[in-house]
Amino acid sequence: AMRQLPYFCRGEVVKGFGRGSKELGVPTANFSEQVVESFPSDITTGIYYGWACVGNGDVHKMVLSIGWNPFYKNIKKSVETHIIHTFKEDFYGEILSIVIVGYIRPEKNFDSLEALISAIQEDIEEAKRQLDLPEHLKLKEDNFFHLPESKIVNNH
Ligand code: ADP
Ligand code: MG
Repeated sequence: AMRQLPYFCRGEVVKGFGRGSKELGVPTANFSEQVVESFPSDITTGIYYGWACVGNGDVHKMVLSIGWNPFYKNIKKSVETHIIHTFKEDFYGEILSIVIVGYIRPEKNFDSLEALISAIQEDIEEAKRQLDLPEHLKLKEDNFFHLPESKIVNNH
């Protein structure tokens, strides 16, 4: 799926293109085009799982979608993180730090909204199970999450 996992990434949360993720109950924090460009260009699109932290807050489980960005006529990718946690407020403009740990599945088209929502729920359950494995759990404590906020790092 991706040559170098775990993959460490940090960047600002920007406004997405309002596909109604929040309305589906799964808001996705979007990275800027600049951050997306810093990803390996041969990266496999699809759904991944990992760890995420907003600012210097707590580290939570997440599911991540790397997909084709409709805003750029699907010639550019988008990277969107759904953090498995209920936040009191939105966090646009804050620094999101993520570690991509593993791959779940490729992108798919769904026949119905119900099918899409149940696939997302399954992705979330799979992410939760995977991240409880000792080898994945240890990344939650990685020093990466304790580095100064200002430091933007993409896998180095
Ligand atoms: P957009 O199209 O602007 O990305 P979304 O409907 O995908 O809008 O909502 C994303 C925003 O919701 C994030 O940028 C963040 O500020 C907020 N948010 C609140 N809770 C979460 C969460 N658990 N995971 C990700 N984003 C969240
Ligand atoms: Mg979004």
